Formats: sequence, structure tokens, C-alpha cells
Amino acid sequence: MTTSDLPSPVYLDHHATTPIDPRVIEVMVDAMRRHIGNPNSVEHGAGRAAAAAVEAARADVADLIGCERDQVRFTGSASDAIRKGLAIALAGEYGRRLRVAATAVEHPAMLSSLADLQANGRIDIVWLPVDQKGQIAIDMVKSAIAEGIDLMCLMMANNEVGTIYPVEATIGLCLRAGVRTLVDATQAAGRLDLHPVAATCDFLIVSGHKFYGPKGIGALMIRELGPDVAALFDHAGTPAVAAIVGIGAAARFAVADFEQERLLTSRLRDRLQAGLSAALPDLVVNGDIDNRLSHSLHISIPGVPNDAVLARTGHKIAISTGAACASGAQEPSHVLRAMALPEHLVEGALRLSVGRFTTDAEIDFAIETIVEAANAIKYAREETIAC
Ligand code: PLP
Repeated sequence: MTTSDLPSPVYLDHHATTPIDPRVIEVMVDAMRRHIGNPNSVEHGAGRAAAAAVEAARADVADLIGCERDQVRFTGSASDAIRKGLAIALAGEYGRRLRVAATAVEHPAMLSSLADLQANGRIDIVWLPVDQKGQIAIDMVKSAIAEGIDLMCLMMANNEVGTIYPVEATIGLCLRAGVRTLVDATQAAGRLDLHPVAATCDFLIVSGHKFYGPKGIGALMIRELGPDVAALFDHAGTPAVAAIVGIGAAARFAVADFEQERLLTSRLRDRLQAGLSAALPDLVVNGDIDNRLSHSLHISIPGVPNDAVLARTGHKIAISTGAACASGAQEPSHVLRAMALPEHLVEGALRLSVGRFTTDAEIDFAIETIVEAANAIKYAREETIAC
């Protein structure tokens, strides 16, 4: 295979989004052709067929999560699910500011929702610190619970450094103390087993476009379906049938391909890490190396600013400096700041993530491209200093 046979750019940004699986596209196109009815029009067959397709997809998503079908509500995204989950979790308890614990490395969707609730006087936030690996200590969870909290918000895995959190242990502690839990499993779905977590948490969030489904569709698992759920979700408009069928199909394939994909992505990620480390000996691998997502590689190349690497490589490979945010603005990563990484590691930080369709040839091309760029940048910097 020559480099001209490779996709352009080679896609290594699966934390930001995954390409939709062609099998999912087929299912969605078929649904768009077949399901002309409105799922809310239960008076006729066309409506009932569309409603059945929505319910089948709900069952598939429930199977991925490990919960009852009725506990799954479709949302516009994980961000939407986070806002709705928080609204339901905090509903009814008016008259006092509730105390919500969260790590400083949560996704901006969680951080901004919590900040809004704080600004409106609804909550106080109890921050859980992370260490240099982006990991939390279970003792910090214990202290937060001892201080008194009403809700614990925790991601299963981090979207920048790929660190996997001790969510089951955290939920166990919360359960014993009567604290409710909201788990952001957006990066974990299709990569980690959600079932043990879903069996015990109160709310769990996933997003279709992170596991090869369509963009613009997410799901919220709600353990107890009280009146606040009905208030938020009833009359929520006509369901997006094709997108719902799409997330259902993506969930089915994620379950079926789980082990095979984990083996493939960890092999490719390790090949990428080994190739880059061999050619760039001062390269640092960030995050919790013993506890990270199988497709995730977060590195820093000291002395090589990440924006300079992206400027040289962006037309050949799709990698990133951190979280893709709605504004597209290049802010210093709040995750790396919370990890207290030294400035030279923050400046040289790059997030790479492989996927279901990544090939060995693409990995080798990415290694060559990044190494070439890093060496050229180092050389240009040394020249400038020498002048
Ligand atoms: N939570 C995490 C951990 C994420 O990685 C993301 C997206 O990057 C989100 C939430 C938001 O997902 P969505 O794009 O579906 O709103």
C-alpha cells in the first residue's frame, strides 16, 4: 500500500468523534425509507411501525448500558443528557443549596452545566482533585462524602488523557452513604463494560457519535422514573427516528464487536506509542498508563509546541491538542491544568486515538508524519536560538 492509498487525513481523533459505521448508515437509510410515520401517531400502522423501531433501538441501547429498556430516554447529545440528568437529580429539593461533587477533569458539558446551577444558587460544587495521571484517589471520594454531598458526578473515562476512573468503588461508597450518582459514560461506551456501573448508579449518559453511531443523538439512563422524568421528556417533540435507529444499531455492533475491537485498538495504540517513543526519546506519555482506554494515547513532546505540530500535520493526519469544544477555541486544556502538568508538557501535548477502522499502515504513516514534524520544529527552534 502506498501513502496515496491512505485516507486523507488519516483519522486519529476518535475521542472527539468516531466515523459512523457503514453498517449503521445502511440501517439508518433503510429506516428513513421505511418509517415515514410519526412514532406518536399510534392510530395507524405507519406510526406504529416507526414507534416499534424506536422501541427496538431503546432495547439495543439498554443492552449496551445494562439496564431496563424503560430506563432509557433518548436525548439530543451527551451534553443534553447531562443537563437533563442533573435537572432530574436535583429536582424537588428546593429551599437549600445542594452539594454536588465532581472532578475538575469532567467534560466541559458537565462543568458548564454545574457552573450554571451554581450561578443560579441551586448548588455548591465540591471539587475532587486529580493527581498528575489525571486519577482520583478514593480517599478524596470518602472525604467528600464525609463532608456531606447530595450528588456525585463522575466520568467513567477521561476524554483527553483516557484515564479510567474507579467508578464502581465510588458508587459503592455513595450507595452506603445514600448519595445519588450521575455517571458520564460518553467515552466508555463500547470500550468498557457499562453493566456493573449501570447496575448501581442512578443516572448514566452515552452519546451515539462516540461509538460509531450518528451525531446528534444521546441517551440517559434513569434508574427511577418519577414525575420529573415525565415533565422533561413527555411532549419532547417527534422522535428523530433515523438517529434513534442509528444509535440502536451502533449499540448492537458495539456489543458484538466489543472484545475484537478492544484487542485491535490496544495493539494499534501500542504500535503508535512504541513507534513515537523510539523516534522521539524525550517523549512523555501522559495519563494513567496502567488504567487507560485501549484506543487512547496522550503524549507530550517537550520543546515542540502542539500548535506547531498541528499546523504542519493537519492536512495529513487528524490529531488534536485536547477536547473539541463547541467554540473551536484553543484554550489551554483544563484537564492538563488540573493534573498540574509542567508548562513544557502542556505546551507539547497531543491527543491521539485510534479506532475500529484504523490500519497498521495508517499508524506507520502517523508515526512518520509526527516525527518528521517534531524534528523539523526542534531544528527550526534551535536555529532561531543559535542566531
Ligand atoms: N462527556 C464526555 C466525556 C465527552 O467526551 C463528550 C464529548 O466529547 C461529551 C460529554 C459531550 O458529548 P456530545 O457531543 O454528545 O454532547
